[in-house]
Amino acid sequence: MTKKVENDYEVIDSVCAYCGVGCDIAAHVDTKENKIKKIFAHPDGATSEGKLCIKGTYGYDFVDAKERLRTPRIRKSFLEKNPEIKEAISDSITELDDTWYETDLDAATTAGAMKLKEIQATYGEKSVCSLGGARTSCESAYYFQKFTRDTLNSPHVDNCARVCHSPSLKGMRLTIGEGAASNPFDDIYKTEFMIVMGSNTTEAHPIVGNRMIKAAQKGTPIACFDVREIKLHRFSKYKAVTPHESNLLVLNMLAYTIITEELYHKDFIKNRTKNFEHFKENILNDPYANPEFFREVEGYEYLADMLPEIAREYATKKSLILWGLGITEHVDGSYAVMAIVHLALMTGNIGKDGAGVMPLRGQTNVQGACDMGMLPYYAPDYTAPKEVGLMTPQLVDGMLDGTIKGVLNIGEDLTHIHPNINKITKAFTNLDLIFVQELFMTDIAERADIVVGVKSAYEKTGIYINAMRKVHLSTPLVHSDLPDDWEVIKLLDEKMGGEFGFETSEDIWEDVRKTATNRFSGASYEMLRANEKQGISWPITEEGGTPVLHREDFRTKDGIGAFRYHGYKLSGMIEEILNNKLTGYHLTTGRIMAHYNNSAQTKYTENLMKKHKEDVLLVHESDSADFPTERVILKTEYGQTNPLKVKFTDKVRPKTLYTTFHHVDSKLNNIFGDKSDELIMTAAFKSIQVDVITVSA
Ligand code: SF4
Repeated sequence: MTKKVENDYEVIDSVCAYCGVGCDIAAHVDTKENKIKKIFAHPDGATSEGKLCIKGTYGYDFVDAKERLRTPRIRKSFLEKNPEIKEAISDSITELDDTWYETDLDAATTAGAMKLKEIQATYGEKSVCSLGGARTSCESAYYFQKFTRDTLNSPHVDNCARVCHSPSLKGMRLTIGEGAASNPFDDIYKTEFMIVMGSNTTEAHPIVGNRMIKAAQKGTPIACFDVREIKLHRFSKYKAVTPHESNLLVLNMLAYTIITEELYHKDFIKNRTKNFEHFKENILNDPYANPEFFREVEGYEYLADMLPEIAREYATKKSLILWGLGITEHVDGSYAVMAIVHLALMTGNIGKDGAGVMPLRGQTNVQGACDMGMLPYYAPDYTAPKEVGLMTPQLVDGMLDGTIKGVLNIGEDLTHIHPNINKITKAFTNLDLIFVQELFMTDIAERADIVVGVKSAYEKTGIYINAMRKVHLSTPLVHSDLPDDWEVIKLLDEKMGGEFGFETSEDIWEDVRKTATNRFSGASYEMLRANEKQGISWPITEEGGTPVLHREDFRTKDGIGAFRYHGYKLSGMIEEILNNKLTGYHLTTGRIMAHYNNSAQTKYTENLMKKHKEDVLLVHESDSADFPTERVILKTEYGQTNPLKVKFTDKVRPKTLYTTFHHVDSKLNNIFGDKSDELIMTAAFKSIQVDVITVSA
C-alpha cells in the first residue's frame, strides 16, 4: 500500500530485503528524488511487531550505492576466446577497463545464449547448471528452474539452502512430510516451554529473538543450547553450553529420558505415528543415549543433570523447538532434525497452537526458492522432477572432471559462502561460461564471463516467503531501469528457444498457482494484497492460509508421522575429551546482526560497517598463551584464512573458537573442506579443528 504524506513524500509498505523473518516495512520515499529516506517497521506490522533490527532500519544505502552494477559487462578474455560471439555483439561493446567491456542487456544475453548453445552442443544438455534464487523473488526463482529444466533440458538446479537448511527439509520430509516451520512466530507467546538449539536468534533472526526475550520475561522457560555462551542464555532457565558436534547425542538423550520416565503421549503416538516401538528399543539400547554419559565428559558434567530436567519440562508442557544452522551444518544435520521431530512426535508437541517445530530460515526467500523447485530433487511444490539433478558440491566435482561447463548464477556468492574455496576456485577455472546476475561485483561476479546488474528487492514487485511460510507480495519502493532477474532469464530463455510468454511477474505467479496447487492455488496477487499487513501462510486456498500445520494429520503420503532412529557416533571433541586428547582448537562460525551473509548489501551502509568492520576471532582468556599476537591465521588441510584479529572473552569455552564469515577478505571458507551432512551434503561449517598460526606484527 502507498500513502502520500506530503507533496513528493510517500510511505510505501513492503517487506524487508534481508533475513528469513520477513519483517513488514514502511519506507519513507522521496518520489521526486526517487530515494528511500528512512525505513520503519509498519506500525501495524504483524511480523515486525513495530520494530526492525539495524539491518532492516539502516541497510538500504546499497540501493543508491555508486558501486551498483548498472551496465552489463563481458570479460575481454571471454570474447577473445569466443570470436564468433565477439563478432555478433561487436556493435554493442565499449571499453570499460583492462578486464571488462560494457555492453547492453540484449548483447549480454545474446552472448550468454550463444555460449550455452555451443556448450550444450559440445558437452551435452546436462553440462550446464543454474545456482541461486534465494535472494530474488519467487517468480524469478520459479522461472529460473523452469528455464533450466524445460528449455535447457538440464536437471541441475540448486540454491543456497544447500549450505543452510537442506537438512531441515530432509529431516522433516522424512518424518512429517513437510520441511517448513509448523507454527507462526507468535506461537512463541502461546507456548509454555521453548527449546532453542543451534540458533543465535538475537543476532541472526533478531525480531524472532525479541519475541523469545519477551516471552521469557513473562515467565516462559527457555532451554538454550549452543557451543558458546550467547545473549539468549541470559534469558534462559537452562543455559546449556554443549561440546561441538553433540546435537544428535543431546537430542537422543532427551528422548531417552522421556522414554525411560514414560513421559510420552501414548494416544498421540498410537493415533498419529508409526515405528515408535522400534525407535524406543533402539534408544534404550543406544550406548550413548543415557544422559549419565556426560558425567565422564570433563567440563560438561552438569549436562547429566540438566538434560533430564529439560526433557521433563518439554514433555509435560505445550512446547516449541526452534533451531538454526547450529543444527543443520554438521555431518549429522539431517539426523539431528529427525531427532528434533521425534521429540515432538513422542510428546504430541505438534499440530496445535504453541507447540511445534520451527527451523529459522536464513535468507529473505530461501523458503520460497525451495518451494519454487530450485532444488535438484524437487520440482515446484516438492513434486518429483522429471530427472533428479546434482547438488552443488557434486556440480563442483563435475566442473573439475569437465562434465559441467556452464554456470548460470543469481545472487549466490558461491566463491565466498560455500566451503572449500580453493577447490571451487580451481573448478571455476575449468568452466567455459559463468553468467552472473547480481547487484554488485561480488567475488563470484569478479570471476564471471558475463555479469548483468539487476533490480534489488526494494525496486521490484515479487513474492517472498519467510521462515513461517508467510507469503508476502512486495511493492517497489523506488523506480529502477534495471531488469528484474526474471526479465534477464526471459531474454536468455527466448534466445534458447523457450516460449512461455511471461510478460509480468504476475503472469509467472499465475503459472506457479497452476503448478504448485498444494500450497499456492488460492494465493492470487489480489488476495496477497488484501492480506498485506497480516501476511498469509501457505498452504493457501481460496478460503485463506494455514498458520499451523499438521493439526489433523501429517503431510506424509499416509498422513502418519514416522520415527527414524539414528544413533550418535562417538567422534570429534567429545572423543578427544574422553581420551584426554583435547589439545587442538575447534572453531565454530556464525552471523552477526549488522551483516547479511557475504555483506554484499550491508557493507554499503556506514552505520552497519561501523558496528562490524571485520570478522573477529573470539578466544577464551585461558588460551591466551597460544595467541600472543594481535592477529592469527587459521589453517586446515584445505587452506588457510587471512590474518584474523583476536579478541579474548569468557563467552567461548577453552579450546573453542568463534568467528563470523561476512567479509570476503577473511577467506574463512578456505579452511572448510568437503565434510558435509551425510544425506544432503550441507557443509559442516559449524565445527572444524584448526591449527593456529601466529602472525608477526
Ligand atoms: S529481523 Fe530480518 S527481516 Fe526483520 S528487520 Fe531484521 S533483517 Fe529485516
